[in-house]
Parts: sequence; structure tokens; C-alpha cells
Amino acid sequence: MEKKSSYIKIDDVSMWYPLKRGFKGGVKGKQWVKAVDGVSLELEKGEVLGVIGESGCGKSTLGRILARLENPTKGDVLIDDISTGELMKNNPKDFRRLVQIVFQNPYDSFTPRDTIEKILMRPLDIHSIGKTLDERRKICLETLESGGLRPAEDIMKRYPHELSGGQLQRISILRAMLLNPKL
Ligand code: ADP
Ligand code: MG
Repeated sequence: MEKKSSYIKIDDVSMWYPLKRGFKGGVKGKQWVKAVDGVSLELEKGEVLGVIGESGCGKSTLGRILARLENPTKGDVLIDDISTGELMKNNPKDFRRLVQIVFQNPYDSFTPRDTIEKILMRPLDIHSIGKTLDERRKICLETLESGGLRPAEDIMKRYPHELSGGQLQRISILRAMLLNPKL
């Protein structure tokens, strides 16, 4: 049987951070925090994977590498057999659209002085989705409505602190979905 190539391939990924030591820690050789150490995984299209583990075991680091916010010390991540390092090098803007992240704390994800309208309009503007300002506003309103955030006109005018944690987290999910990402 022919082996189907997987959609996302995490190939022996390691992320080691150098340990910062005080003046007393002067033993020879550099020491490392092995945040991620030799992780290999394969995912098919549409597959959902949850990574669980104790605090500090490397979950977020693996996520940052997947989104290529950091380059791994060793190994690579491939999407459709292409290295995300290459994708990022050749066309960072396209890659940033391809992979979207929903961060853990929505109050940290957004600039507190920006309205929800400004927050949602920015990715549309950057990636030239919707031809006119009106068209972009319409996309934002429809997206908010589709996420059960009503009245959308009112939500658009608010600041992050004027929404509940759940409402704001829904907005961070909707913002990621606006760009129709692959991952
Ligand atoms: P988790 O998300 O599973 O709680 P992290 O991926 O945030 O864990 O962190 C894994 C380990 O790597 C921790 O020991 C953390 O202190 C360390 N670490 C994470 N980021 C850095 C960094 N930028 N520099 C140095 N050490 C880091
Ligand atoms: Mg974490």
C-alpha cells in the first residue's frame, strides 16, 4: 500500500534554550533548557490534536515553532511536504496568513486601546480582503454576528475591557478565522 504523505509533519523538532547562570555557576560548558526535545508527529488534513502536559513541559514552545514564531534548534515542520522555514523565508506574509494562533489570554492578545473594529479590520487590511472599507466593515459585522456577538454594531465600537473573557476569546477565534487559515 502506498504511504500517503501527511499534511503536517513535525520532524524531530528540538528547542534548546541556553541556561543563564549567575557568577557562581561557572562550570565548564554551556547548559541548556531542553524545552522541546526530539518531537515527531504527523497530522492529516482535518485532524485535531490536543497536547497535554504539566506546566513548563514545552507545549507553548512547540506551538510557537509550528507557527514559526521561532526557529527550532533542530528538526523541521513541514506543511504539504514543504518546510515551514522555507515558506516563511520565501513569503512571510502568505505564511502568516496560512497559520493562525488563538492565544490563551484574550486580554493579552489585543491592544487595549484599539476598538474591536480596529482589531478585526487590521488583518483584512493587511491581506487585502474586501475591496473597500465598507466591504471590510460588512465582513467584520457578519463575522461577529456569526459568532453570536450581537448587536455587532455595538460590539465593534467597544474596547477589549468592555467585553467578557468569553466574548473576547470568541473574537480572537473569529479574527483567526477571518483569514481562512490552513492551520
Ligand atoms: P508549557 O507551555 O508546556 O507550560 P513552555 O513551552 O512555555 O511550557 O516552556 C517549556 C520550558 O522552556 C520551560 O522550562 C520554560 O521555562 C522554558 N522556556 C520557554 N521559553 C523560553 C525562552 N524564550 N528562553 C528560555 N527558556 C524558555
Ligand atoms: Mg504554555
